[in-house]
Amino acid sequence: MAKRDYYEILGVSKGASQDEIKKSYRRLAMKYHPDRNTDDKDAEVKFKEGKEAYEVLKDEEKRSAYDRFGHEGVRGGPAGGGFSGEGFGDIFGDVFGDIFGGSRRGASQVFRGADLGYELKLDLENAVAGDSVTIDVPTQVACDPCNGSGAEKGSEPTQCKTCGGVGQVRMQQGFFSIQQACPACKGAGTIITDACKNCHGRGRVSKTKTLNVKVPAGVDDGDRIRLSGEGEAGRNGGPPGDLYVEVRVVPHKLFERAGADLSCEVPIGFATATLSGEVELPTLDGQVSLKIPAGTQSGKVFRLRGKGVATVRDPRKGDLFARVAVETPINLTSEQEALLRQFDDLVSVSRDRHNPRAGGWLDTVKRFFEKIS
Ligand SMILES: [Zn+2]
Ligand SMILES: [Zn+2]
Repeated sequence: MAKRDYYEILGVSKGASQDEIKKSYRRLAMKYHPDRNTDDKDAEVKFKEGKEAYEVLKDEEKRSAYDRFGHEGVRGGPAGGGFSGEGFGDIFGDVFGDIFGGSRRGASQVFRGADLGYELKLDLENAVAGDSVTIDVPTQVACDPCNGSGAEKGSEPTQCKTCGGVGQVRMQQGFFSIQQACPACKGAGTIITDACKNCHGRGRVSKTKTLNVKVPAGVDDGDRIRLSGEGEAGRNGGPPGDLYVEVRVVPHKLFERAGADLSCEVPIGFATATLSGEVELPTLDGQVSLKIPAGTQSGKVFRLRGKGVATVRDPRKGDLFARVAVETPINLTSEQEALLRQFDDLVSVSRDRHNPRAGGWLDTVKRFFEKIS
């Protein structure tokens, strides 16, 4: 049977990009994959044809040989000769890795180490200014004596007989066949007969790692700092996971933070609130003086621009919102009491004039009761 043109098989033009070739092959392989076309000889032929064409065209060297000399140019290559079922695992993983989650190249499966979380408590000042902290993280690291293999020095893990070293077994389930991790080797593809004495064959050991974490200025409660590769060691030669350091900012005695803004409460005496005055206000950059105008009501909020904090994303500082709480005097002496009563008598002559809210409030209360009666 004369061989068909590789470009024709994949349905792409001679000048097709690698991306187009890959996409086209993917479509074809999905359509004719043996898992979906059980006992369909025609599909099997098309699948093999597609794979052969792809193996040549994805390789620039082979592709140019094919372009110049046709099928003769690539005869004897890995795909040119007889096709054997095994081996397509590789190319299949190459193209479908992202669909089926993880490539299947190599004899056995590797497992990425687990990600770890670490809660880092910071006070507001350190979170805002940035910090460098040393943390101790209990984790799993690759076992030293066996280099993470789990096999005792001088011995090697042997290939798993159940799955033939693939780490996966296929189970027919109606139309589709489903892949599962091999129950005998737990997906590793290998079995350890002579276990390493240090890690008992696990390949990893518990260890507390001491790490230095650079906390960027402006971090906030709940922010996460990723330390790439500082998670648990992988298994079977897999890459390590990441460590996520989650920032917990402990509540501050004076300030509350909302993004770039801070807020605080300022208790002031009722004489100051009435007659005006100045109070010393703390900020993260030191004390500032806050002018209290005459007749300031409790709950009034003063905005101090630029006295907030910079965030990780924006170096411009937010504002500080200072909320005034007018205090009611307590523990008065009889003389103080007498003076206050005298004051109250003087005020009662025209109470509405001196109590800006009370008059309007009483009216509202009156209307409220009229309505429900
Ligand atoms: Zn196995
Ligand atoms: Zn070991």
